[in-house]
Formats: sequence, C-alpha cells, structure tokens
Amino acid sequence: MTQTSHLVRRLVTEIPGPRSRELQTRKSAAISAGIGVALPVYISRAWDGALEDVDGNVLIDLGSGIGVTGVGNANPRVVAALARQAELFTHVAFAITPYESYVEVGEALNRLTPGDHDKRSALFNSGAEAVENAVKIARAFTGRQAIVVLEHGYHGRTNLTMGMTAKAMPFKHGFGPFAPEVYRMPASYPLRDGLTGAEAAARTVSRIEKEIGADSVAAIVLEPIQGEGGFIVPAAGFVAELARFARESGALLVADEIQSGFCRTGDWFASEHEGVVPDLITTAKGIAGGMPLSAVTGRADVMDAVHAGGLGGTYTGNPVACAAALAAIEWMEDVDACGLARTIDAAITARLTTLKDRHPEVVEIRGRGAMKAIEIASPLDLTPDPARTAELNAFCHRNGVVTLVTGNYGNVMRFLPPLSIPSPALEEAFDVLDEAFAVTFG
Ligand SMILES: *Cc1c(COP(=O)(O)O)cnc(C)c1O
Repeated sequence: MTQTSHLVRRLVTEIPGPRSRELQTRKSAAISAGIGVALPVYISRAWDGALEDVDGNVLIDLGSGIGVTGVGNANPRVVAALARQAELFTHVAFAITPYESYVEVGEALNRLTPGDHDKRSALFNSGAEAVENAVKIARAFTGRQAIVVLEHGYHGRTNLTMGMTAKAMPFKHGFGPFAPEVYRMPASYPLRDGLTGAEAAARTVSRIEKEIGADSVAAIVLEPIQGEGGFIVPAAGFVAELARFARESGALLVADEIQSGFCRTGDWFASEHEGVVPDLITTAKGIAGGMPLSAVTGRADVMDAVHAGGLGGTYTGNPVACAAALAAIEWMEDVDACGLARTIDAAITARLTTLKDRHPEVVEIRGRGAMKAIEIASPLDLTPDPARTAELNAFCHRNGVVTLVTGNYGNVMRFLPPLSIPSPALEEAFDVLDEAFAVTFG
C-alpha cells in the first residue's frame, strides 16, 4: 500500500485501537456472549462509505451495516426527517391511533414494487418479522400450510425464520425444535450444480411434487439473489419457472427482497431482473436509512384476506422510522440510486476481474449492482477455502476496510457499499483487497 493512495482511510492506531479494546472488554462483561462481533471497532460517527471509530481511525465501509445504509450513513435528508418527526411524536401505535406517514410508506411501496396491479402493504420492525407475516398471510389466503424455502436461503433468526434458514452455524445450532411444515428444496447455484435455470427449476418442482404435493404448498419463499447464502445468483429463468409453477398450483410466490431491495442490485427490486412479479414481497434493510422498519407488500386480494387485527404489533411502522423511510425513498428517486448501484457494479467488476485474472482461487465473481461477491475455492475442484477467506477478511479489517464474509461454506467475500460511496473510497478499498490477496496467496 503506497501512502499516496491512502486518501480516505485514516489509521492512527492499530485496528482495533486501545479505546475499542477497552470497550470490547466491557462488552464481554456486560453483553451476552451470544451477541457476536465481527470487527470489534467501536464506531463514533459515520458518513458516506466511512466509519470513524473511538480511537480516531476512519475505515472504509463495504458492508453498509449488512446492506442497510444504502442511502449513506446518517444521510442528512433522513436525519432531518426523523428529527422533525421525533419532535412531533415518537410513538402512538398505528393500531390504536394512526398517522399519515405509515400510509404514505405503504403507498410508496405499492408504487415501487414490481407489477402495476392493485396492492396493499403492512409494516413491521425487522426482516424476520416481515417474513413471518408473509407466511401468516400466505397461509390465511391459501388455506394451506406448507412453506417451501431453498437451500442456502436466509430468512432470519426468530423460531419460524430459523426453520426457514438453511445454515445451522451460527444461526440455528442448539436452538431447535423449529416450526413444522417448512420444506427446504434445491436452489440454483450455477457454479456448483452446472444446471440451467430450467433444469434447476425442474429438479426443485419435481421434489416439491413428490415430497410435499403441489396442492399443499401455501408459498414458495425465495431470495432473487441469495444474501447470507453467498450472494448466489440463480441461473436465468429459475425464479420465473418457480413463479410459473406457483401460479399454476395455487401457491404464492414470496420474494424475500430484504437484502436485495431498494436499488441495491441496480433495480428497485431484484425480481425485476428476473421478469417476475411476486405475489408478496418482503422488504427491510435498505428501506429507511438505518431505522428499523420492514414491510410485506403484495396483491390486494391476498393482503386483504387477513381478518382485521390479524397483523400488527406494538411498534410496527414506528412514525420516526416511517419518516426516515419516506426521506430515504425520496433520496433514492432524486439521485437515481439504481444508476449509482450500476456505476458501482462497473467499478467493482473491473477491479474483481483483474483480481481473478491474477488469482485463480477467485472461482467466481457474482452479484449485481452494489451487491457483489467473490467465491474463494480451489481452482482445481472448487473445494471451498474458508480459512483463506477468513485471512483475507482479517487483512482488510486490520487495514481499515470493513468487508463481510458470507456463504454456507464461509468462503464468499461480499461487497455491499453504500450507494453513496465516493469513487476514491471504493477504489482505495479494492487496493487493500488486492494487497490482501498478494499477502495471502503470494
Ligand atoms: C437480513 C435478512 C433477513 C432478516 O432480517 P432481520 O432484520 O435481521 O430480521 C431476512 N431475509 C433476508 C433475505 C435477509 O437478508
């Protein structure tokens, strides 16, 4: 790393620094060991693509707090909107005495999600809660129970969504039993199954028909790009085929766009790229610039099939979070955030292509928009290399770049920068990744 390219990062101590280490000691004494920390650097301030820690270091952010702060951390418009709302009222419970911003968020979601049919929305707090409610709605509408999910899928950490999530460690290990009537079926993973979208879908459909029965399925819940599973992009046509099967068999297609939504992939929603209009769509992460908010949006006949009072919760659709969402959505529309994601895609792809040419251990570059990843494995037989992946990640962390590892085999580095990240920050982060590869693989 040449000093001259050291423009965005500011490293004044080792990472983590002394203040962070002190806080980590307090964390261990006060907070459950079950709450893990990937990079124990305590943050005091953050802005577009930069995280400042309590020791005065500035790190480059390629994680966006797990794909949440797409509009940039502490986006000024979001901050102004939520501060204004917080001064007026912080909570009244929409189910008791409603307010306009909740309705406005619903209207925005109905307008922005795929399809121009009549839609309704319902707001919740977390992604897992949105997925749980999508399942409730699908069961109420269809009168059926079975929920189909896919291998490598991730849907959350509550009891129902743990059962829907594929990966045992760390998400499910020791936490069972899980809810019944959840069936995990084969996904499309082109690098490893070599199947076309049609072939992979035929395999999945055949398993559903044999093991569940097509007329028992309430919903197929899938991520159009699998997030925690390793940023796996299904082969072309896979999602559309499953959508067709769902339509013909009376099941609903639920697109879990909690990670892929809100311009992250270069479209408002990743389903658009597949040419699919889901019956229901779950959103969260990118929706409100960092405030906890989630939603289920979909066909009016499906969403209205639930009895009044059947959906809700004390905090669901909190007014401060709704104000943040409206400001975040306005920002995304004004700056053409989908265009920003596509520009980031081009820049990252150029860097990763050069890296892959030099290092055959990068067996695949995948993802779309500002949701990109590399899979690291043996170039000979594709044996996953989680140890080297962890080393690469640790190198990036030590050198002031926040990267995230994902994938059921722990061998995928994913890049989820804020859509507002300045180009020099992005380039500098990938300089560090280049160096990490040079150090790790020689
Ligand atoms: C993160 C995520 C969830 C769970 O969201 P939480 O807010 O953590 O409960 C569900 N589905 C997908 C696709 C996700 O990426």
